[in-house]
Amino acid sequence: MCGIFGVYPHKDAAHLTCLGLYALQHRGEEASGIITRNGRKAHLHKGLGLVSDVFDEKIIRSLKGELAVGHVRYSTTGSSNIKNTQPFYVKSKIGDIAIAHNGNLTNTTSLHRELENNGALFQTTMDSEIIAHLLARSHNNNSQDTVIWALSKLEGAYSLVLMLDDVLIGARDTFGWRPLCLGKFDGAYVLASETCALDLIGAQYIRDIEPGEIVFIKKDGLTSIKPYQKTRHAFCIFEYIYFARPDSNIFGHNVYATRKRLGGQLAAEFPVVADFVMPIPDSGTYAALGFSEASKIPFEYGMIRNHYIGRTFIQPTQDLRDFRVKIKLNPLREVLNGKKVAIIEDSIVRGTTSRMRVKTLRQAGAKELHMRVSCPPLKFPCFYGIDFPTKKELVASKHDIAWVRDFIGADSLEYLSLDGMLDSMPLPKEDFCTACFTGKYPICHSCRSSKDILEK
Ligand code: SF4
Repeated sequence: MCGIFGVYPHKDAAHLTCLGLYALQHRGEEASGIITRNGRKAHLHKGLGLVSDVFDEKIIRSLKGELAVGHVRYSTTGSSNIKNTQPFYVKSKIGDIAIAHNGNLTNTTSLHRELENNGALFQTTMDSEIIAHLLARSHNNNSQDTVIWALSKLEGAYSLVLMLDDVLIGARDTFGWRPLCLGKFDGAYVLASETCALDLIGAQYIRDIEPGEIVFIKKDGLTSIKPYQKTRHAFCIFEYIYFARPDSNIFGHNVYATRKRLGGQLAAEFPVVADFVMPIPDSGTYAALGFSEASKIPFEYGMIRNHYIGRTFIQPTQDLRDFRVKIKLNPLREVLNGKKVAIIEDSIVRGTTSRMRVKTLRQAGAKELHMRVSCPPLKFPCFYGIDFPTKKELVASKHDIAWVRDFIGADSLEYLSLDGMLDSMPLPKEDFCTACFTGKYPICHSCRSSKDILEK
């Protein structure tokens, strides 16, 4: 997962990009970066941490130029260190190249090997660097043909914001796994992972960048091309379930409304007798609203979230991870005591966090705890840019629902059905990737899911 942003041409390009990255912070909290271009000079600043840790007013003012590209990172290939931060920037024979990438390539190993055999020297262990090497090796003599050729070599998931000298480029793979939208602000074009970033700077949403589309933004306007053969679509359904911000429109449709529909469907499939419905905040909140509305069971907050813990809270051991779960959500004894509760969770990955939460709710006096999950069991790893653990770490891949229920300590546990999830979506079911639930990978079924693929 990552958030990407770009703007051109605007005199406050760095400032707007910094605000855009604030809005996209939920997509990556490990590192943040912005590159700008002023005449023939590029200015880059990036570092580990949240946007607010990495940037201040003085730094933003030093990033001069009308073109800016920004990135917030959640590592899905390459570990979390300063070298593996983006935008990735190089000077090359074709000019200045800067890359902000969301998604995972699935032919990373073969491309990396081929490039190394041809003399490429890699500076990072991110798959995104491969794109820079391909661009730099192109024998085409204009930016359009260079990009078409380089991206034609890639397989897998990419939404990209690129700087190629004084051209801002937005591109999405033909399957469209990751979102990317186009907006306009004060005469400048804006590219962003999610529409919430456009909203924050007051930009007008124009449309999504389409799967397989590349847009070239120059000072005098925008050109769009679709040079590749069409494939099926494979929009990541998990963006709707968990990742994207509820106030964003993803793949052209609102996330909040979709999550509420998931909750309504869950209530229809697995009714429960309870005194109230509570979410696991924040991501379970919208499905819980839908569940409450459909079931006519009142909505209550049984846990309150502490918003002031970021990822700087280092958690090397299970004990500290458990403590983090505790510090993040505090139960409301007055609300829970002696009550039958329907808990709405957006997903269960390892099961350890849900187990901790159920234990905390019981200790706070809840009488019965019925967990309902607004997606089907997660059984398979993701190769397209979501950092799901390996198959053996996904609790539902090796255990049935009854086992998971006992493991987390709930009185009952039910997951939304696959059909129910797809019926709740605002787009035809054929347009979605559901591989982490079904094991039906749109491409690269035999891929290995490993973040350190270029480190081994
Ligand atoms: S496997 Fe799951 S998380 Fe990965 S892209 Fe497909 S739907 Fe999204």
